[in-house]
Parts: sequence; C-alpha cells; structure tokens
Amino acid sequence: MLITQETLLGKSLEELTQWVQEQGQPAYRGKQLYQWLYQKGVRSLDEISVFPKTWREQLTDYPIGRSNIEYRTIAPDATRKYLLGLEDGLIIEAVGIPTAKRLTVCVSSQVGCPMACDFCATGKGGYQRHLKAHEIVDQVLTVQEDFQRRVSHVVFMGMGEPLLNLEEVVKSVKILNQDVGIGQRSLTISTVGLPQKIIQLAHHRLQVTLAVSLHASNQKLREKLIPSAKHYPLKQLLADCREYVKTTKRRISFEYVLLGGVNDLPNHAIELSELLRGFQSHVNLIPYNPIEEADYQRPNQEQIQQFIEVLEQQKVAVSVRYSRGLEANAACGQLRASQGLKS
Ligand code: SAH
Repeated sequence: MLITQETLLGKSLEELTQWVQEQGQPAYRGKQLYQWLYQKGVRSLDEISVFPKTWREQLTDYPIGRSNIEYRTIAPDATRKYLLGLEDGLIIEAVGIPTAKRLTVCVSSQVGCPMACDFCATGKGGYQRHLKAHEIVDQVLTVQEDFQRRVSHVVFMGMGEPLLNLEEVVKSVKILNQDVGIGQRSLTISTVGLPQKIIQLAHHRLQVTLAVSLHASNQKLREKLIPSAKHYPLKQLLADCREYVKTTKRRISFEYVLLGGVNDLPNHAIELSELLRGFQSHVNLIPYNPIEEADYQRPNQEQIQQFIEVLEQQKVAVSVRYSRGLEANAACGQLRASQGLKS
C-alpha cells in the first residue's frame, strides 16, 4: 500500500499554517497545531481541545503520521524496545534507553537494511524501504510519551543505514532540533560509510556527532565483515572522515564491534591505532551481541581489557559501550522486526 495523503507530522510551522488556512481556519490555528503535534505529541487531531468541536469531528481520521505501538518489551535494565506499525503495515523498531540524566532513543532510518553486515541481525532480515522524516520523528515522540519524560538524546543506530536515506535523515534532524527541541549535539548519526555520502553530509554543516562503524583494522578483514567495504576502501573512507572533521569542526567517533578471535587481537589494536594516527577521534568498542544467524563469539573481559590497553598505550581515546537491552533483544545489531513478536 502506498502512503497517498501527506501527513501533518513533518510539516513546518509555515506549512501547517498554510494547511489550516486551506481548511478555512484562521492562521493562528497553525501555531496551535504545530505545538500540539511536536510538543504535546497528539496522535489524533481530535485531541486538540483548543480547536472548535465541529472542525475536530471532521478531522478525526485525518492522517497525522503517527505509528502504533504493536509490541513493547522492557529489559531488566529498564531499556524498552518497541515494534511500531507504520501506515503501510510494515514494522520497525525503536529503543528507549533511560539513565538518571538522559533518555536516549535509538531510531531506525529504514525498514530493514540492505548492507548485510555479517554480524548484524537487521541485515539478515532483508530490506524493505526508506523511512520518511516524520516516521523517524514519530519514534522519538512515541518513546517520549511512553516514558512520560523528555527525550534528551537520539542515536541513529536502529534498523537501517542512515546515509542511504540522507535527505529524509537530514530533514528529521532539523525537525528534532527545531520543532521537538533536542540540541543537534545530542544527536548521533551512525554509518557504515558509503562513497560520497560522508562528504555530502558534511556539506549540510550539521552539529550532530558522526559515528563511523569501522569494525576492522585492515581492508581485507573489513571486506569479510562488511560486504559494501569492497566498494569503499578504508583509505578513502578515512580520507572522507578527515574532510568531514575539517568541514564541520566536529570530532568523529569510530565504532568497533569486538568479535572474539576475529578482530580483537593485540595486533588488530596496533593496526587500528596506526590507521587513526593524527586523527581527532574516539573509538567506541562494542563487545559483540550474539545473534542466531552468526556464530561469532563475544570476547571475554580479559581480551577486551587487553585490546583497550594496547589502544591506550598508542594514545587512542577509547571507551567500551556495553549495550543496554541485551535481554530484550534490543541491543546493537539485534534489531529485527519479527523478534519481539515471537517472544
Ligand atoms: N547502519 C548504521 C547503524 C547501525 S547499528 C551503522 O552501520 O553504523 C549501530 C551499531 O551497531 C553499528 O556500529 C553496528 O555495526 C553495530 N552492530 C551491529 N550488529 C552488532 C552486534 N551483533 N553486536 C554489536 N554491535 C553490532
């Protein structure tokens, strides 16, 4: 099914003002609609109590652009995973990750993912389509409503490859920033890296954090783990990252999933530090989260510690990200729309 009518979520204040006027209403109702959509997070126009009753009744079924929560699981660490039903019946995942000071939402940018990285569950499930900007914004509003708490951070680390869907992702960043009110520096776009796309993103001059999924310390190993790496040599990827830093004046963080015995040996750490020499960067290590279709191993604590020590000796800034939500299959790389429905 195609989405035929344009949804209201995703429109700017000006566009909403124009829309209310087309409906025969005064211009100031545009501002009201804008506030109720983005600040109060209404799911139906019928809920907008400042609108005249007769108009609200006519508008009850007008498509706002909100998803339905089809399923929700809560992990013991309080991370919540949602399966959200879209207008055309497809399902995506979003994750809410609370701490004392933050509420982070991990959003999907596509339904499924075509990149097919060997260690990632999303890639194993195939690819359906890009998300529209409002479908990304909806995920944030949904988590905000469910937690009854303001979302402080958004990471584009759910299903999909954000830079394949650059235009809608950039549009969603602008909406999250200007209309929902989340600082650009609290938004992170994570990418496996695609030719030209990092440079294109740089030209948008956003203040978001860019995270690049490196996962290997040399080209040969990277090609084994990430099929698309064949068309984007590490050398070019890193040159583009340097250009990104120069244009945006923002640091880049590199993600590195630790796969026991595959990319986590001391010589890999040395090689990695050589790759990143002279680079204003930060390495985020993600110990592998097990998925059914791959038989990689998560390294033990000692192996992780050894990898960190080698990087630190080489003066590379490094931290480990222990994924939240592991028990709910909501951790990095475990997202796949069917999983929650099965359990
Ligand atoms: N397509 C984007 C966002 C995807 S997910 C990207 O590739 O960056 C966010 C991070 O989780 C990526 O670094 C991804 O490689 C990592 N990841 C995928 N599968 C994983 C797994 N099984 N265990 C740990 N991290 C994983």
